[in-house]
Amino acid sequence: MGINAILVDRRSTMNRHPKARNLNVRSVEIFRALGIEAAIRKWDFPREARRIMWLESFCGEELAKISFDNELATRCSPCEPAALSQARLEDLLRNSIQEDHVSIQYETEFIDFVEEKDSLIATLQKKTGETFQIRAKYLLAADGARSPIRKLLEIPVLGREDLGKFVSIYFKADPYPIAPYRPSLAYFMLGEASFGRFIQSVNCKDEWLMGIKLSPEMEKGDTDFHTEYCLQIIRETFEIPDLKIEILDIEFWYMRVQIAKNFR
Ligand SMILES: Cc1cc2nc3c(=O)[nH]c(=O)nc-3n(C[C@H](O)[C@H](O)[C@H](O)COP(=O)(O)OP(=O)(O)OC[C@H]3O[C@@H](n4cnc5c(N)ncnc54)[C@H](O)[C@@H]3O)c2cc1C
Repeated sequence: MGINAILVDRRSTMNRHPKARNLNVRSVEIFRALGIEAAIRKWDFPREARRIMWLESFCGEELAKISFDNELATRCSPCEPAALSQARLEDLLRNSIQEDHVSIQYETEFIDFVEEKDSLIATLQKKTGETFQIRAKYLLAADGARSPIRKLLEIPVLGREDLGKFVSIYFKADPYPIAPYRPSLAYFMLGEASFGRFIQSVNCKDEWLMGIKLSPEMEKGDTDFHTEYCLQIIRETFEIPDLKIEILDIEFWYMRVQIAKNFR
């Protein structure tokens, strides 16, 4: 957009965990304006997959489904919703940045800032420990749910933070030669054998996320989720004992329903 900016992230690379995968029409309208809608469509799920399903088990009886193909929204918008993983979307966004205007600096942590009359001075720290300052007209906080910038500004959050700890296992596997092909964004299992587990499709083909809500006794044991245990859980949930699986990443996260009390 022609605005000079510096984007800093304390991580070493872009996020690779797929995370969110559903884009509503308003998001797609914004991505159209940024010129990346066509690139998003290349990854998009088939239309019939824009839904969530509740199943007895992954290969078992279908109990319920909700479609996200919201006809009313598409009648009010020139765009259709889309589905692609947050990691791929972040890649597309990074590639669309005009590098003459935006410099991206990884392994750089935002530490603090002081406001001056028409600008501010931000203090940043490199992974090597070296600190430096930059002067900017604006500071945009895009630093996540536990935003350090929100905390510095003493903005509280409203809502509940105790909805439980989850594990998300990102893996590659092709269950379709055996499992029924019922394309969907997510599958919630309600049968006794895999109750509390959910499977999210990442590319509607062979990339998946397995989600499990951890019980209080499992909450401290992150190391329990070693490769062998993850393979066993995934095979059990797909009901395919010899399914070939490649584990790509494992993340633990807390479910919260919160919003900042005010914005500035
Ligand atoms: C496993 C998983 C599955 C999910 N699935 C869904 C889903 O299906 N649907 C959905 O809507 N949402 C989902 N979410 C939630 C969604 O991913 C988040 O809501 C979203 O990532 C929030 O985006 P954000 O840009 O606000 O923050 P983030 O994506 O958290 O990005 C914040 C960035 O700021 C950086 N940062 C933080 N502090 C500093 C600092 N001091 N200095 C420098 N850099 C800093 C971090 O390194 C990070 O890169 C999921 C999340 C997880 C973990």
